[in-house]
Amino acid sequence: MPNLAWVDGRFIPLEQAMVSVEDRGYQFGDGVYEVVRTYYGKPFRMEAHLARLERSAEAIGLALPYRPSDWQALVTEGLARAGYADSKIYLQATRGVALRDHAFPARTPPTLVMTIREMHPLAPALSQAGVQAATLEDQRWGRCDIKSINLLPNVLARQRAKEAGAFEAILLREGMVTEGSVSNVAVVTAGRLATAPEGPRILSGVTRALVLELAHKEGIPVEERFVPVDELRQSDEVFLCGTTIEVLPVVRVDQRTIGTGTPGPVTRRLSLRFQEMVSALA
Ligand code: PLP
Repeated sequence: MPNLAWVDGRFIPLEQAMVSVEDRGYQFGDGVYEVVRTYYGKPFRMEAHLARLERSAEAIGLALPYRPSDWQALVTEGLARAGYADSKIYLQATRGVALRDHAFPARTPPTLVMTIREMHPLAPALSQAGVQAATLEDQRWGRCDIKSINLLPNVLARQRAKEAGAFEAILLREGMVTEGSVSNVAVVTAGRLATAPEGPRILSGVTRALVLELAHKEGIPVEERFVPVDELRQSDEVFLCGTTIEVLPVVRVDQRTIGTGTPGPVTRRLSLRFQEMVSALA
Protein backbone atom coordinates (compact mmCIF):
# COMPACT_ATOMS: atom_id res chain seq x y z
CA MET A 1 0.00 0.00 0.00
CA PRO A 2 1.22 3.57 -0.60
CA ASN A 3 1.09 6.30 2.06
CA LEU A 4 -1.89 5.51 4.21
CA ALA A 5 -4.24 6.94 6.78
CA TRP A 6 -6.38 5.49 9.51
CA VAL A 7 -9.52 7.57 10.07
CA ASP A 8 -12.80 6.57 11.75
CA GLY A 9 -11.28 3.20 12.53
CA ARG A 10 -10.47 2.36 8.89
CA PHE A 11 -7.27 2.20 6.89
CA ILE A 12 -7.47 4.02 3.57
CA PRO A 13 -5.01 5.55 1.07
CA LEU A 14 -3.77 8.88 2.42
CA GLU A 15 -5.16 10.95 -0.46
CA GLN A 16 -8.69 9.65 0.27
CA ALA A 17 -8.55 10.49 3.99
CA MET A 18 -10.86 13.28 5.17
CA VAL A 19 -12.20 14.87 8.31
CA SER A 20 -15.21 17.16 8.65
CA VAL A 21 -14.86 20.94 8.26
CA GLU A 22 -16.62 21.07 11.63
CA ASP A 23 -13.75 19.20 13.23
CA ARG A 24 -12.32 21.29 16.05
CA GLY A 25 -8.85 20.59 14.76
CA TYR A 26 -9.78 22.50 11.59
CA GLN A 27 -11.89 25.15 13.32
CA PHE A 28 -9.65 25.93 16.29
CA GLY A 29 -6.46 23.90 16.08
CA ASP A 30 -7.95 22.16 19.13
CA GLY A 31 -5.86 19.03 19.26
CA VAL A 32 -2.49 17.41 19.84
CA TYR A 33 -0.20 15.17 17.85
CA GLU A 34 2.97 13.10 17.73
CA VAL A 35 5.46 12.14 15.06
CA VAL A 36 7.32 8.85 15.29
CA ARG A 37 10.05 7.81 12.92
CA THR A 38 10.68 4.21 11.89
CA TYR A 39 14.02 2.70 10.95
CA TYR A 40 14.16 -0.74 9.37
CA GLY A 41 10.38 -0.86 9.76
CA LYS A 42 10.56 -0.40 13.54
CA PRO A 43 9.33 2.64 15.46
CA PHE A 44 12.09 4.53 17.27
CA ARG A 45 11.50 5.69 20.87
CA MET A 46 7.80 5.02 20.52
CA GLU A 47 7.13 4.76 24.29
CA ALA A 48 8.50 8.26 24.85
CA HIS A 49 6.35 9.65 22.02
CA LEU A 50 3.22 7.95 23.35
CA ALA A 51 3.92 9.20 26.87
CA ARG A 52 4.21 12.76 25.50
CA LEU A 53 0.96 12.32 23.55
CA GLU A 54 -0.78 11.39 26.81
CA ARG A 55 0.75 14.40 28.57
CA SER A 56 -0.25 16.78 25.75
CA ALA A 57 -3.83 15.45 25.68
CA GLU A 58 -4.16 15.68 29.45
CA ALA A 59 -2.81 19.24 29.42
CA ILE A 60 -5.62 20.37 27.10
CA GLY A 61 -8.32 18.36 28.93
CA LEU A 62 -8.75 15.88 26.06
CA ALA A 63 -9.69 12.37 27.20
CA LEU A 64 -8.10 9.95 24.75
CA PRO A 65 -9.99 6.69 24.20
CA TYR A 66 -6.69 5.10 23.12
CA ARG A 67 -4.04 4.06 25.64
CA PRO A 68 -0.38 3.63 24.61
CA SER A 69 -0.92 -0.12 24.09
CA ASP A 70 -3.83 0.61 21.71
CA TRP A 71 -1.67 3.02 19.69
CA GLN A 72 1.13 0.45 19.65
CA ALA A 73 -1.20 -2.18 18.19
CA LEU A 74 -2.54 0.26 15.63
CA VAL A 75 0.94 1.36 14.57
CA THR A 76 2.05 -2.26 14.22
CA GLU A 77 -0.89 -2.98 11.93
CA GLY A 78 -0.34 0.24 9.95
CA LEU A 79 3.35 -0.47 9.43
CA ALA A 80 2.59 -3.99 8.22
CA ARG A 81 0.12 -2.54 5.70
CA ALA A 82 2.41 0.29 4.55
CA GLY A 83 5.48 -1.91 4.31
CA TYR A 84 8.00 0.94 4.47
CA ALA A 85 11.36 0.55 6.16
CA ASP A 86 11.69 4.27 6.79
CA SER A 87 8.47 6.09 7.53
CA LYS A 88 6.96 8.97 9.50
CA ILE A 89 3.96 8.11 11.59
CA TYR A 90 1.67 10.97 12.65
CA LEU A 91 -0.80 10.36 15.46
CA GLN A 92 -3.31 13.18 15.79
CA ALA A 93 -6.19 13.65 18.21
CA THR A 94 -8.65 16.54 18.13
CA ARG A 95 -11.63 17.40 20.32
CA GLY A 96 -13.92 16.03 17.62
CA VAL A 97 -16.69 17.27 15.34
CA ALA A 98 -19.19 19.71 16.82
CA LEU A 99 -21.04 22.93 15.93
CA ARG A 100 -18.56 25.78 16.15
CA ASP A 101 -18.35 27.08 19.69
CA HIS A 102 -15.12 27.85 21.50
CA ALA A 103 -16.14 26.07 24.72
CA PHE A 104 -15.74 22.28 24.79
CA PRO A 105 -18.65 20.34 23.28
CA ALA A 106 -20.50 17.87 25.51
CA ARG A 107 -20.22 14.14 24.76
CA THR A 108 -18.31 14.52 21.51
CA PRO A 109 -15.80 11.75 20.80
CA PRO A 110 -12.31 12.91 19.81
CA THR A 111 -11.24 12.49 16.20
CA LEU A 112 -8.27 10.16 16.01
CA VAL A 113 -6.15 10.03 12.88
CA MET A 114 -2.98 8.15 12.08
CA THR A 115 -1.03 8.64 8.88
CA ILE A 116 2.00 6.72 7.68
CA ARG A 117 4.16 8.31 5.01
CA GLU A 118 7.35 7.14 3.44
CA MET A 119 10.26 8.97 5.05
CA HIS A 120 12.70 10.68 2.73
CA PRO A 121 15.66 11.41 5.01
CA LEU A 122 17.63 14.63 4.69
CA ALA A 123 20.38 14.55 2.09
CA PRO A 124 23.53 13.20 3.81
CA ALA A 125 25.41 16.24 2.44
CA LEU A 126 23.37 18.45 4.79
CA SER A 127 24.48 16.65 7.92
CA GLN A 128 28.03 16.32 6.62
CA ALA A 129 28.41 20.02 5.81
CA GLY A 130 25.99 21.45 8.39
CA VAL A 131 23.17 23.91 7.83
CA GLN A 132 22.47 27.59 8.28
CA ALA A 133 20.04 28.97 10.89
CA ALA A 134 18.43 32.38 11.36
CA THR A 135 17.42 33.79 14.73
CA LEU A 136 13.88 35.09 15.07
CA GLU A 137 11.63 36.28 17.87
CA ASP A 138 9.75 33.39 19.52
CA GLN A 139 6.12 34.43 19.06
CA ARG A 140 4.54 31.27 20.44
CA TRP A 141 2.21 30.86 23.40
CA GLY A 142 3.13 30.03 26.99
CA ARG A 143 2.70 26.24 26.73
CA CYS A 144 5.24 25.14 24.15
CA ASP A 145 5.61 21.88 26.10
CA ILE A 146 2.23 20.79 24.68
CA LYS A 147 2.61 19.28 21.21
CA SER A 148 -0.38 21.16 19.88
CA ILE A 149 -1.52 21.02 16.26
CA ASN A 150 -1.60 24.85 16.41
CA LEU A 151 1.64 25.49 14.60
CA LEU A 152 1.10 28.89 13.00
CA PRO A 153 4.02 30.69 14.74
CA ASN A 154 6.28 27.73 13.89
CA VAL A 155 5.08 27.81 10.27
CA LEU A 156 5.75 31.55 9.98
CA ALA A 157 9.18 31.24 11.59
CA ARG A 158 10.25 28.37 9.34
CA GLN A 159 9.04 30.28 6.29
CA ARG A 160 10.95 33.42 7.30
CA ALA A 161 14.06 31.33 7.90
CA LYS A 162 13.66 29.74 4.47
CA GLU A 163 13.26 33.16 2.85
CA ALA A 164 16.51 34.20 4.57
CA GLY A 165 18.24 31.19 2.99
CA ALA A 166 18.37 29.27 6.27
CA PHE A 167 17.33 25.71 7.03
CA GLU A 168 15.87 26.41 10.47
CA ALA A 169 14.73 29.30 12.65
CA ILE A 170 16.33 29.53 16.08
CA LEU A 171 13.76 31.17 18.32
CA LEU A 172 14.62 33.82 20.91
CA ARG A 173 12.59 34.96 23.87
CA GLU A 174 13.98 38.09 25.47
CA GLY A 175 17.31 37.44 23.77
CA MET A 176 17.58 33.83 24.99
CA VAL A 177 17.43 30.72 22.80
CA THR A 178 14.37 28.57 23.35
CA GLU A 179 14.38 26.08 20.46
CA GLY A 180 13.93 25.76 16.71
CA SER A 181 10.65 25.89 14.79
CA VAL A 182 10.80 22.10 14.33
CA SER A 183 13.71 21.10 16.56
CA ASN A 184 15.53 21.58 19.84
CA VAL A 185 18.77 23.53 19.82
CA ALA A 186 22.07 22.75 21.58
CA VAL A 187 25.11 25.00 21.85
CA VAL A 188 28.64 23.83 22.65
CA THR A 189 31.27 26.14 24.10
CA ALA A 190 34.63 24.92 25.40
CA GLY A 191 33.36 21.33 25.32
CA ARG A 192 30.25 22.06 27.43
CA LEU A 193 26.83 21.46 25.94
CA ALA A 194 24.01 23.86 26.83
CA THR A 195 20.36 23.55 25.89
CA ALA A 196 17.16 25.21 27.11
CA PRO A 197 15.60 23.51 30.14
CA GLU A 198 12.37 21.52 29.96
CA GLY A 199 9.35 23.59 30.88
CA PRO A 200 6.67 25.68 29.17
CA ARG A 201 9.12 27.44 26.82
CA ILE A 202 10.14 24.38 24.80
CA LEU A 203 8.85 21.09 23.53
CA SER A 204 10.46 18.37 25.58
CA GLY A 205 12.04 16.66 22.60
CA VAL A 206 12.37 12.90 22.53
CA THR A 207 15.58 13.30 20.54
CA ARG A 208 16.81 15.99 22.95
CA ALA A 209 16.37 13.56 25.87
CA LEU A 210 18.27 10.86 23.98
CA VAL A 211 21.07 13.27 23.03
CA LEU A 212 21.45 14.34 26.67
CA GLU A 213 21.61 10.66 27.70
CA LEU A 214 24.31 10.07 25.09
CA ALA A 215 26.21 13.17 26.23
CA HIS A 216 26.20 11.92 29.84
CA LYS A 217 27.52 8.52 28.69
CA GLU A 218 30.25 10.28 26.69
CA GLY A 219 31.27 12.37 29.68
CA ILE A 220 30.27 15.61 27.93
CA PRO A 221 29.21 18.20 30.55
CA VAL A 222 25.59 19.30 30.04
CA GLU A 223 23.93 22.47 31.25
CA GLU A 224 20.18 22.88 30.92
CA ARG A 225 19.82 26.65 30.76
CA PHE A 226 18.72 29.36 28.36
CA VAL A 227 21.62 30.47 26.18
CA PRO A 228 21.89 34.20 25.34
CA VAL A 229 21.95 35.00 21.61
CA ASP A 230 25.49 36.44 21.81
CA GLU A 231 26.75 33.18 23.30
CA LEU A 232 24.97 31.28 20.53
CA ARG A 233 26.68 33.34 17.82
CA GLN A 234 30.12 33.07 19.45
CA SER A 235 29.87 29.37 20.35
CA ASP A 236 32.14 26.62 19.02
CA GLU A 237 29.32 24.38 17.85
CA VAL A 238 25.56 24.47 17.43
CA PHE A 239 23.30 21.61 16.51
CA LEU A 240 19.60 20.90 16.07
CA CYS A 241 17.89 17.71 17.10
CA GLY A 242 14.52 16.20 16.35
CA THR A 243 12.75 13.05 15.20
CA THR A 244 13.08 13.67 11.49
CA ILE A 245 16.31 15.69 11.42
CA GLU A 246 18.15 13.57 14.01
CA VAL A 247 21.35 15.40 15.09
CA LEU A 248 22.01 18.14 12.56
CA PRO A 249 25.03 20.49 12.79
CA VAL A 250 24.53 24.23 12.32
CA VAL A 251 27.57 25.99 10.87
CA ARG A 252 26.19 29.47 10.30
CA VAL A 253 23.82 31.59 12.38
CA ASP A 254 22.62 34.91 10.95
CA GLN A 255 25.45 34.90 8.38
CA ARG A 256 28.07 34.42 11.11
CA THR A 257 30.25 31.35 10.97
CA ILE A 258 30.03 29.02 13.98
CA GLY A 259 33.38 27.61 15.12
CA THR A 260 35.41 26.55 12.09
CA GLY A 261 32.39 26.55 9.80
CA THR A 262 32.29 22.76 9.78
CA PRO A 263 30.54 20.32 12.15
CA GLY A 264 32.48 20.28 15.43
CA PRO A 265 33.80 17.28 17.37
CA VAL A 266 31.06 17.15 20.05
CA THR A 267 28.30 17.30 17.45
CA ARG A 268 29.99 14.63 15.31
CA ARG A 269 30.45 12.36 18.32
CA LEU A 270 26.83 12.67 19.40
CA SER A 271 25.62 12.21 15.85
CA LEU A 272 27.70 9.04 15.54
CA ARG A 273 26.38 7.65 18.84
CA PHE A 274 22.86 8.48 17.67
CA GLN A 275 23.41 6.61 14.40
CA GLU A 276 24.74 3.62 16.33
CA MET A 277 21.52 3.51 18.37
CA VAL A 278 19.48 3.59 15.20
CA SER A 279 21.59 0.88 13.59
CA ALA A 280 20.84 -1.34 16.58
CA LEU A 281 17.26 -1.57 15.27
CA ALA A 282 18.43 -3.30 12.07
N1 PLP B 1 10.74 21.44 19.15
C1 PLP B 1 9.74 21.61 18.27
C2 PLP B 1 9.04 22.93 18.21
C3 PLP B 1 9.35 20.55 17.42
O1 PLP B 1 8.35 20.72 16.54
C4 PLP B 1 10.05 19.33 17.49
C5 PLP B 1 9.72 18.20 16.63
O2 PLP B 1 8.81 18.21 15.87
C6 PLP B 1 11.09 19.21 18.40
C7 PLP B 1 11.41 20.28 19.24
C8 PLP B 1 11.88 17.93 18.53
O3 PLP B 1 11.13 16.96 19.23
P1 PLP B 1 11.33 15.42 18.97
O4 PLP B 1 12.77 15.12 19.19
O5 PLP B 1 10.47 14.77 20.00
O6 PLP B 1 10.91 15.14 17.59
